Amino acid sequence: VQHDGGNAVCFYTPEMAAAATRRMLLTMHLTHAIERNEMHLVYQPIVDKTGRVVSAEALLRWTHHSLGPVSPGEFIPVAEESGLIVPITDWVLSTAIGQMARWEIEDVLPERVFLNISGQQFLRGNLTVRLTELLADCPALRSRLGLEITEQAAVRDLKVAVRTLGELSALGIQTAIDDFGSGYSSLSYVQQLPVAKLKIDRAFVIDVPENPKSNALVRAAVGMAHGLGLTTVAEGVETEEQRDFLISVGCDMMQGYLFGKPMMPDTLADMVRGQRCV
Ligand code: C2E
Ligand code: CA
Ligand code: CA
Ligand code: CA
Repeated sequence: VQHDGGNAVCFYTPEMAAAATRRMLLTMHLTHAIERNEMHLVYQPIVDKTGRVVSAEALLRWTHHSLGPVSPGEFIPVAEESGLIVPITDWVLSTAIGQMARWEIEDVLPERVFLNISGQQFLRGNLTVRLTELLADCPALRSRLGLEITEQAAVRDLKVAVRTLGELSALGIQTAIDDFGSGYSSLSYVQQLPVAKLKIDRAFVIDVPENPKSNALVRAAVGMAHGLGLTTVAEGVETEEQRDFLISVGCDMMQGYLFGKPMMPDTLADMVRGQRCV
């Protein structure tokens, strides 16, 4: 039992203790993950209505030699809590930009490659400075890069978010609101954010077209996005029924296992190359 400021009392269960131990263990190992070469990026295709790969999302993978693969759903929050998200994001940015430069030479670079930026990193303020540095040798890649931030992050500090999004867009870097619909933010916030894309959360996509409420929500999100001049991407598309519904409500792009799981860079390159020959 822990007394906190004399008025709140917290009870720790064995599960909570185990979770805390796991977090400590992960933090410790995460500190060395980059220098030990345990991280890599996989890329998931994003397709248009015709099924053509137009962009890709880079997703981080961590495989520890004894713990095995740890999912980003588990280690990203740990990285954020410990501040390790800063060097990790830096590694993601430079690795993805390096990959994009190689794809460009091989002529298999998708129109855009999107990277995930955690809220903490996004609101820190020096993101544009770092990106300008990393892109100094390959300025042409700016217009091929995209960043995804969650709506919660943007809404947490609207002033900083609006400024940073404006700076990124001035550089030619496109921005997308990730997990749209999963937070509590109001539409008036989204209206104030200078972003180009809205990614509709998988939680809504999963229930279409069977659930009329999800259908209404997805239709409304697409309509609102278009009204604001944004394009839409639906996440987690797994079935043809979902795809057909999304196309019928005018969703611009789709991402999900139906089109391809997150894959190694060479596999994505093969996919891009393959669709060019047909
Ligand atoms: P997210 O940005 O919403 O990424 C989409 C997640 O949905 C990915 O999980 C992806 O593998 C999964 N997914 C895609 N299509 C389908 C589908 O059809 N069905 C199902 N069931 N899942 C699908 P993943 O790779 O485990 O990543 C989880 C989360 O971790 C991401 O959610 C993102 O928030 C975070 N993350 C991943 N990589 C990075 C990174 O480099 N930086 C930061 N800050 N966060 C990252
Ligand atoms: Ca994302
Ligand atoms: Ca998402
Ligand atoms: Ca998500």
